[in-house]
Amino acid sequence: MKNAFLAALFGAVLLISCAREEDNVKPSTSSDDDLIGFISTSTGVEKSKIVYDATKKHFVLNGDVLVTRQDAEDRLKASKGGRTEHWRYNYLVSNTYVTNIKVYINPAVPSAWQTATRNALTQWNNINGTKLFFSEVTSSTSANIRVITGYEAASWVARAYLPTYNGRPGTPVEINTYYNSLPSGQKLFAMVHELGHTFGLLHTDQTSGVFITGTPTTDPNSVMNSYVLNWNGFTTGDVSAVQILYPQ
Ligand SMILES: [Zn+2]
Repeated sequence: MKNAFLAALFGAVLLISCAREEDNVKPSTSSDDDLIGFISTSTGVEKSKIVYDATKKHFVLNGDVLVTRQDAEDRLKASKGGRTEHWRYNYLVSNTYVTNIKVYINPAVPSAWQTATRNALTQWNNINGTKLFFSEVTSSTSANIRVITGYEAASWVARAYLPTYNGRPGTPVEINTYYNSLPSGQKLFAMVHELGHTFGLLHTDQTSGVFITGTPTTDPNSVMNSYVLNWNGFTTGDVSAVQILYPQ
């Protein structure tokens, strides 16, 4: 039971990344003591029963439960801020493009990811009260966004570029095929999230960017959270953010 609880708490935490410089910088590291204190508080395991193995870079709880240092770091970082607000980038997509952002899916993209991408386009297109609209094109030369694959045994599932200074959507969106076995709901979440970056949304669990006035100040289930969740639809905050940035 406890193990299951811990697994749920510290289980595979997959980050979605994007091409901003900040996203490529690892979180500042915390001391062993800070992390042990945090793990103790969040699990109820006494500090004296938590040992750090520096070689394997994990904490051992009660002798048999393992928490990687990276997971603990990520969780601590998330808990410190605890803020989940909607932020936008300096640059947005101009009217020239935003009413019909053309997306090309490279044929090399695995079919399950292609499906997730198409479903993600539909999710954004189904939001009312916004001029934002995506369409799929079969020619890469006419596309505004190309969806491609990469492979890296790393903690990013997918990543995307933000809009350019001259109002074009960010391209390409890159899928890490190291995560091909992710459940379909998480693939969809990741692709909805990445498309959000292409038109200027930043992570809700960051505290930088331009705050989107009119959105809620707490929105933990936003698709723009940097952790991959199972897709469960947009939050009202996600919908508001798009309607405010790209009104009809
Ligand atoms: Zn992201």
